[in-house]
Formats: sequence, structure tokens, C-alpha cells
Amino acid sequence: MDRYIVKIRQAMPDGDIWIKESTYAQTEGLRAIYATAAEKECLIVDGCKAFLFEGEAVGGIKICPLNHANRLVLNMEIGYTRPQAIGAATASFGCGDRLGLANAGQLAAVRQTRVKPVLAQQSLRELYLTGRSYDDVIDAASWAVFKSGYREGYGADGDHLKTKQEVEAALEHGCSMITLDCSGVLKEPPAQAEALSRAYERIPARKRLILEEEYLNLTHAASIGITYTRQTWMEILVTYLDAVELAEEIYMELICSRGRRIDYEISLDETVHTTSAAAHYFVARELKKRHVRISSIAPKFVGEFQKGIDYIGDTESFRRNLRIHCVVAACYGHKVSIHSGSDKFRVFPVIADETKGLFHVKTSGTSWLEAVRVIARNAPDLYRRMHWIALEHLDEARSYYKVDCDVSVVKPLDTATDDELPAYIDQDDSRQLMHIAYGILLRDKKMQDEIYASLRKNEAAYRRQVEQHIEKHLISLQCL
Ligand SMILES: [Zn+2]
Repeated sequence: MDRYIVKIRQAMPDGDIWIKESTYAQTEGLRAIYATAAEKECLIVDGCKAFLFEGEAVGGIKICPLNHANRLVLNMEIGYTRPQAIGAATASFGCGDRLGLANAGQLAAVRQTRVKPVLAQQSLRELYLTGRSYDDVIDAASWAVFKSGYREGYGADGDHLKTKQEVEAALEHGCSMITLDCSGVLKEPPAQAEALSRAYERIPARKRLILEEEYLNLTHAASIGITYTRQTWMEILVTYLDAVELAEEIYMELICSRGRRIDYEISLDETVHTTSAAAHYFVARELKKRHVRISSIAPKFVGEFQKGIDYIGDTESFRRNLRIHCVVAACYGHKVSIHSGSDKFRVFPVIADETKGLFHVKTSGTSWLEAVRVIARNAPDLYRRMHWIALEHLDEARSYYKVDCDVSVVKPLDTATDDELPAYIDQDDSRQLMHIAYGILLRDKKMQDEIYASLRKNEAAYRRQVEQHIEKHLISLQCL
């Protein structure tokens, strides 16, 4: 490395250059390092593969911008910058970064632990609301990984996808994880016995009868405390069979033939009903039987997991609920995944305990809220305008996310001094208000520019803020 640095300095004798040595990477035919030259971020490469990168050749080295084309080459040549599957045997933490500026802080927190980060994690709703693409999101994550010299591997999650087309697009763009949101095919079982029987009998007999025979006589399920009465069995088959079939079809057509490992998560959580252990068992067992390899299942738990605020409900009921899901997951070798996992400090110790440290926890908006906090602290006027717009468009924001958020209890903005603004990010109702308003704020181009400019100006503060906040999560999850 030292010789490479000497070479760079010789090539740019009058250059105002700062080189980050910990990012140095060498592979066959390529040396690469991150630097800033004349205050501009760049990748400096040499070697016979340097021609693959876009950039300016100077005295035997090449100075390359951190753009999309160069990210693709970097991913190809330096493996750890490419999203990769994490698997079912390692704990993982979904970070999510709506702005593309939070990954550095997230990495700083995660790198002190054994937990693998899923740095890029966007649902279609988030892509739509932020006006970003999978390419943007993976660009940001790849460069953040390279710039921080983190070499342990990270994931990219095509989150809450519902159709083959959506899954295909996410895989094409390099996602290493697919979260199949089954809510579109989860059926509501009729409450009335007769209607339930009719719905059950509409399932083709050739599928129904074999499964019925199997599940009503399962000794393995009984050995872990799961039994199927005729009634619960009918409800489960009516509710979940289509989801199993969709998960199987997508796996067979798009995932197993990919030529690379993919983390496949089955999400059952976007529904009003709590997922029973018997339902979880059915889905997991059917997928295994059909040779579908999954890395995690996200059940819907008792209590409420609302965006950006703590768990609502009884933590002991949650513990019992999670425990039986963990037993099922352990039987089939996948992780339990906890969605809307940001800021659930009351139950993080329970999650750590019951999963024995093997979990997938997803957070996404919480890093955005830390961005809002940095703005409230450093650009009070901008914060005030964001707050007003969020209030003005509350109904629309609520159509994207289900939150309790009662704005009548939020302290009126015109009575708050500038020093009091960051406190809005700590109060649950105003916190949720800002949490769900991100799409509305970012689609206003002028406001978007101001938000980015403010965060870039306070980049170090934002990085620290995100690091501390994610660290707080990981401490509570007993990873630190
Ligand atoms: Zn979910």
C-alpha cells in the first residue's frame, strides 16, 4: 500500500489530496483507494483493470468519480462492496436509508458487532415516495461500504415485494435479499362455520385432502405444542395456501436459478391478524417440503409495532408469542424477522433473549428521523417549514402508513423556541408526524435540495447521530 500511496502523491504533486488508507483494496490487476482530491471525493485506481473505470488518467493512476458506472465495476472487482446473502445462521439488522446519507453512521454502529447489516432496504412504497431507484440505493450502500473500509459483507433487501415482476426487478438490480409480502394473497377466513367450510371446499380436493390427512395427524407439531383442530386447520389452509404457492412459484422461477445465493424472507405481517404458531408452522413446513430455501419469516406478533415509536402492548404476552415462533423457526432453520423494528426498546431485550441472538430486525425510518433531528438543531427555519408541510398533508401521509399520531397534543410550532425544536423528535406524536411525512417533503424539489444541503453541511453530526441511535438499538438487542 505504501508504494501505491507514494505513486499517487507523485502523480499529483500539487494536488490538494487526502487519502483514507483503511480503504485500500487490492485484487488481481487492480489497486483501489478512497481519497478526496481538491475537496472532491474520488476513487483512485491503477493496474491493468483500471481501464474498466470511468475517470481521468494522471501519471499512471486514474481518478474516478463515485458514480453508478464505477460502482458496478467496483462491485464486480471488489467482492465485499457487492450486496450478498447473509443466511439464516447470522443475525442481521435492516438499516434502511431513505436519503442515501445514513449508511456511514449505520456501518460505524454495526461494525462493532457480529450482526450483519442490510444497508440497502427499500420497499416500492419507499422508492416511490423518495423518488429513488434500486440503483441509487445500492450505489449509496456500496460507496459507503468502500469508504468506511467495512469488509464483512452486507445485504440489499427488495422489501415488501408482492409480484413476480417486482421480485425480478429487484434481483436484476442486484438485491441480495427478497422480502415477499404475502398480504395480497392472504385470505380472510370467514368467521361463520358454514362459510368457512364452503371456502375450504373451494380449494381443489387433490390439494386439500392430502394436506388434511397430513396435518390432522402431525406428531411432530404436537411435540412442540402445536395442534390443528379441524376448525383451525380449515382457517389456516384457507388463509395461507395461496401465500405458500406464491412463495414457491417465485422461488422456483426467479430465486433458485439465480446462480447466487439470495436471502428469501416470507412476510406474513402486513395483515390485521396475529400469525398463530400453527400458521407459521404450516408455512415453514410446506416451504421446506417444496424445497424452498428461506432465511426468515416475519409473523405478525401480538401488540402493535408502529413506525418510529416503542412497542405498544404487554411485553410478557409478546415474550410468550415470540417464544413459540422461535421454536417453530428453530425446527425449520430460519430466523424470525421483526418488522417495524425501529425504536422498540421495551421489547429488544426480549427479542435478544428469545431468539438467542439470532434474529432479523428491520428498521427504516428511524435514520430519517435522526436526519430531521439534525435539521431541527442546525437549521431551525427549515425544520419549521418541514413541520408545517407535514401538518398540512397529514391525511395524505396517513394513507401511506398506519400510525396513531394525535397532532392535537403536539405543542403548537409557533410557541416553540428554536432550542425546543429537537424535542419534537422525542415526542411520539410529532415523531410519527415527521416519520410518515418524508415522501411529501422529498417530492418538493426545492425542499428536497434544502434537506440534502443541510445534511451535507452537517455530515459529521448526522453520521454521529445515526451511529449513536443505531448503537442504542444494538445495545438493547444485546449485541454490544
Ligand atoms: Zn412488514
